[in-house]
Amino acid sequence: MNKYIETVLADVRAKNADQKEFLQAVEEVLTTLAPVIEANKAYEENAILERLVQPERTIIFRVPWVDDKGKVRVNRGYRIQFNSAIGPYKGGLRFDPSVNLSVLKFLAFEQIFKNSLTTLPMGGGKGGSDFNPKQSPHTPGKRCSDGEVMRFCQSFMTALYHYIGADTDVPAGDMNVGGREIGYLFGQYKRLANEWTGVLTGKGLSFGGSLIRPEATGYGDIYFAENMLAKRGETIEGKRCVVSGSGNVASFAAEKLIALGAKVLTLSDRSGAIYAKDGISDNMLKDIMHLKTVERGEFADFAKKTKGVKFFKGANSWQLADKIDCAFPCARQNELNGEDAAYLLKHGCTLVGEGANMPSTPEAINAFLKAKIMFSPGKASNAGGVATSGLEMSQNSERISWTREQVDNRLRDIMKAIHDNAWEAAEKYGKKGNYVVGANIAGFTKVADAMVAQGIC
Ligand code: NDP
Repeated sequence: MNKYIETVLADVRAKNADQKEFLQAVEEVLTTLAPVIEANKAYEENAILERLVQPERTIIFRVPWVDDKGKVRVNRGYRIQFNSAIGPYKGGLRFDPSVNLSVLKFLAFEQIFKNSLTTLPMGGGKGGSDFNPKQSPHTPGKRCSDGEVMRFCQSFMTALYHYIGADTDVPAGDMNVGGREIGYLFGQYKRLANEWTGVLTGKGLSFGGSLIRPEATGYGDIYFAENMLAKRGETIEGKRCVVSGSGNVASFAAEKLIALGAKVLTLSDRSGAIYAKDGISDNMLKDIMHLKTVERGEFADFAKKTKGVKFFKGANSWQLADKIDCAFPCARQNELNGEDAAYLLKHGCTLVGEGANMPSTPEAINAFLKAKIMFSPGKASNAGGVATSGLEMSQNSERISWTREQVDNRLRDIMKAIHDNAWEAAEKYGKKGNYVVGANIAGFTKVADAMVAQGIC
């Protein structure tokens, strides 16, 4: 390995020994950058890698709130403002008990390159809390009420609002942070700052949200897959697809797949996975979206009342079907391991399009690259969400709203541009067809050049 990269990696490991997800993300990127680091001495001379792996600012704060029984609860809130070389920090908020510094630093680090790939001026950030809206703190098996979620969001924003702004840092949603939460967060920001600006994206349509933003990450993942397939003279129509998750990204990825004539065989959630031998129908998917966004229920109950669907408790989506063309991991990090990868390859899979952030383990990625199948890393193929957030920011600044078609066409163009940039960068550095190397180099170069141009800061 390149000596400079090796030294920086050793230092990152020593300083962040307990942050396993962050280390995984940094290693995944840095180990692919040797050709571009060697071709441009200015990067080492300006200590670009040493600066790139260090967040510009990490904010940790307490979030006190009162539950429905009148008891005071305290959670931990975070915002990682990782890199602002090419634009204001931009990245989602995640509310989940698994949230910690390592997870958020990995997500914010990935976001730097993803945002750079979108071609829009956005830096990298991420935030969230260990708050669990899916488990009431006082009643086992029940979710937090809307009132509890609102009081939590108001307290979270009361602490966060000092550090964000339309030209500083623009958060959005992520796991367990959807339209409801963004609405409460936006309301509290507006009240504290006494201004109406596009400080958050993913807003409701009646207050500055963009059409297609909810769909964008899932749709974008499939548009990226279409671009990969086109390189091999294929289309998505008729492909047998396994999808994981059933939240925002998964459900819209499935919707687009069905619309394009592909078969969606599986979806999953925390309770397990569902398998539909003949494919999930349009109507079934509508019921699933209702289950997840309105009833906020689980597949365990859904499968009991739905014909044509089998439920596998505690299973993931990967090892249920016996003939698979494409896989779309859209739930969470490290959800597809080496064993799952071996199963997918053995059962015919020739395309993996990551919708989630870092869903494939390093073993799985190596297996896909070794087999030379089409594999797109999340930072490229799930960038449609943040790209459309960028479009929402533009619409807010101009005080206009684009039509559904306008936004969807921009999204398609952006996903094609990301695909082509990653393809060309891989080809330029002798790794034709390797989107991991291509996306990392294309995303890195723009940020690194901006950092060099801005001096030591
Ligand atoms: P959601 O909260 O809407 O959905 C997450 C899904 O993952 C749910 O189906 C959830 O199940 C499932 N899940 C979560 N934890 C586990 C677990 N431990 N075991 C099994 N299943 C689990 O999140 P999103 O769809 O927004 O995000 C999914 C992924 O995509 C994340 O990695 C996120 O960072 C990434 N992403 C999201 C973007 C967006 O625009 N939303 C943009 C780019 C990336 P259950 O329903 O039971 O909770």
